[in-house]
Amino acid sequence: MAHTTASGAPRDMVLIDQQPTTFNEADALVHSSDPLHPANHICSLCRQFYTHGWVTGTGGGVSIKHGNHIFIAPSGQQKELMRPEDMFVMDFATRQYLRRPAVLKPSACTPLFLAAFTQRGAACCIHTHSQWAVLVTLICESGLQNPSERNVFSMKEIEQIKGISRGGAGSSEIAEGGRKVGNLGYFDTMQIPIIENTAHEEDLRDTLEKAMVEWPEACAVLVRRHGVYVWGKDVAQAKTQCESLDYLFQLAVEMHKLGLKWV
Ligand SMILES: [Zn+2]
Repeated sequence: MAHTTASGAPRDMVLIDQQPTTFNEADALVHSSDPLHPANHICSLCRQFYTHGWVTGTGGGVSIKHGNHIFIAPSGQQKELMRPEDMFVMDFATRQYLRRPAVLKPSACTPLFLAAFTQRGAACCIHTHSQWAVLVTLICESGLQNPSERNVFSMKEIEQIKGISRGGAGSSEIAEGGRKVGNLGYFDTMQIPIIENTAHEEDLRDTLEKAMVEWPEACAVLVRRHGVYVWGKDVAQAKTQCESLDYLFQLAVEMHKLGLKWV
C-alpha cells in the first residue's frame, strides 16, 4: 500500500488527468483537498475573475502569500482553465522557485506581486485587465474630469468607498457604530495613483513601488491603458477591494458619460 500525505493523497504516485506522474516534494506543495489551499484557491478565483472580464485572454493574475511560500498563477495560461499543478511556488525569503512547472512561463507580474507583499505586508495581490480600470485611466489622462489630476483617480461620497481600506492591508478593527477603523469613510476622498504602462510588465516594478511610497493610503495602483493591481492582508480583503474598486471604476465611467463629476 502506498504511503499517504496529510491530505490523504498517495505519496508515491498522483493521478493528473488519469496519467500517473511521479510525485515529489515540489508537487506536494500544490496538492491539497482543502479548497482554500492557495493552489486551489487561485484556480477558483481565476474562474470567478474570468466571468467578470478581469483576466480575459490569459491577461491579469493572482498571487497568494501563505507563510513563507508565494503561490503564483503562470503566464500565458487561460485563467479559467487553471489547475493547481500549473502553479509556481516561490520561497519568500530566498526568492527561489520551490516549484516551477517545466512547460509554463513564470508570470511577468511576479516582481509586482512581491512589491505588495514586501512594501505593504499584503498576503494576496490581484491584477486585472478590467475595461473599467483602463477607461478610468484614459478619462483621467484626458483631463476632462480634473485637469490637475491626470495621474490619480479620485472619488468621494459614494457608499462603496467604505469597502476600501487605508493602505490596502490595514486594520479590520471595528469602531463604535460598526465602521471599520482601517477603512475609508463616506466623506473621505479615495485616491488611486495611476502609473504609465511599459512595454514589458516586469518593468512596471520601480514606478509601482514609487507609487506605493508616495500614496501610503492607496490599496491599489492603476496602470494606464492596462489595468489595476489591488492587494489585501488576506484573500478576502484583496477580493473585496478589487470588487469594490471595479464597481467604482464602472460607476465613474458612467458618471463621466452623464457629465457628472467624481469629486
Ligand atoms: Zn497585465
